[in-house]
Amino acid sequence: MTNKLKYFIGNWKMFGDFNDFKIVNKINKFTQKSKNILKKKKVILCLPNILIYDFNKKLKSKFLSLGAQNCHPHDKYGPYTGSVSSFMLKKAGAKYVILGHSENRSEGDSNILIREKIVSALKQKLNVIFCIGETLKEKKLNKTNFVLNQQIKHSLSKKINFNKIIIAYEPVWSIGTNKIPNISELKVIIKFIKNKLKKTLKIKKSPLVLYGGSVNSNNVKLFSDIKEIDGFLIGGASQSSNKFIDIIKNYYK
Ligand code: PEP
Repeated sequence: MTNKLKYFIGNWKMFGDFNDFKIVNKINKFTQKSKNILKKKKVILCLPNILIYDFNKKLKSKFLSLGAQNCHPHDKYGPYTGSVSSFMLKKAGAKYVILGHSENRSEGDSNILIREKIVSALKQKLNVIFCIGETLKEKKLNKTNFVLNQQIKHSLSKKINFNKIIIAYEPVWSIGTNKIPNISELKVIIKFIKNKLKKTLKIKKSPLVLYGGSVNSNNVKLFSDIKEIDGFLIGGASQSSNKFIDIIKNYYK
């Protein structure tokens, strides 16, 4: 088993309420308890905005960090009804923010808008989980590499603080569908992404690249064959403490 630090990031999407602190607490206790056997892991939960402040106050943990799932491109305050800025998220206790998720791209987030959001999040010293991935149509047209290249090229630049960027490769066709990519094809794609990042950002070592899309406790072990994968972004299964904990346990089995 690998000795490299692996990330397990949950994305609760638009689920969860104030009673669900028990889920966070259980995951935190597991993370704390397993720190010796599973030393090389980092656990983060990206929650709906309304839960961050309350859960962060109750949690006070150095084993589990909280994050948000989106932010406005303007980084402070402003007349943007219904929006939340990176500054507000940071004040509420978020350490991370997911940007470029396909569910937000499908609602209109362009590569350029995502770039502005990344800049705003970095200004507030949030860590960014930047999602990229192709649709089924693009995959069938053999456009995966082209799409990933566009998403990287238009949303990142060599001026940004790449130490605070984590990439999540999430093929859109695998999100919430129980379909995962072929493992050898995925390995090639992850390597492609890392090379593109190095070229685009003009750096020697690529930022971390996670995989996301229908990861569960039954399939997570398959991904351990790909040493280039630095962890996972987990949607549906992260809303249950048992399912999320089983993913971590089974990965290291
Ligand atoms: C996601 O929403 O980022 C995701 C990976 O979802 P799921 O794990 O449910 O496919």
